[in-house]
Amino acid sequence: MVAISTIETMTLDGGMACLDLVNSGYDTQPGIITDRMFSYADLITLSSRLGILDQQEIAALSLLASKNSTQAAKALNNLKKFRELMYQVLVAMVHKKLPALNKAVLKELNTYLAESITHRELILSQGAFKADWKKEKLNLEKPLWLFVFSASELLSSDKCQYVKQCTGCAWLFIDESKSHRRKWCDMKSCGANEKYKRFSLKLKTENTSV
Ligand SMILES: [Zn+2]
Repeated sequence: MVAISTIETMTLDGGMACLDLVNSGYDTQPGIITDRMFSYADLITLSSRLGILDQQEIAALSLLASKNSTQAAKALNNLKKFRELMYQVLVAMVHKKLPALNKAVLKELNTYLAESITHRELILSQGAFKADWKKEKLNLEKPLWLFVFSASELLSSDKCQYVKQCTGCAWLFIDESKSHRRKWCDMKSCGANEKYKRFSLKLKTENTSV
């Protein structure tokens, strides 16, 4: 039996933060939820592993969450709703079913995006403009805004044509291989498992046909 990884041990093979967020909640078969996010601390762990928050923000958010458990639970719940929404969008995209996507899903996605971008601004740095996150009072929703931003970057870029769903575990990843023919999130785990399965099946067929 393959042990289900945790938020600390799951591999981060998605290629973009929003994909690893989705992968934290879906596994093995499409539509099956194997959650790894049970507390706000798990959300901080994932954000930290992905490097989307700096160490100072991580420490400050952890402290804020410990003092405001109701708000932290609300922020986690909101993030999970977004994760579910993204799963629907990405699976539809991978299986070329975007035209059939429910309009309400797009509307909801845009609601998340509208909230996220109110926390960004243009700043002048060395004579040039740069878009960045506002230096504002720390908010427990910040990890969500970062994942939403990552999702909007992915969905509006050329990379989205290379998003695939692993044939082994159903995780989503960007296939950046030269031939764009990658089937597995990770060659060492899912790739090896699939090859082993095929080998076992071949042996079985050979033995039964003798
Ligand atoms: Zn996989």
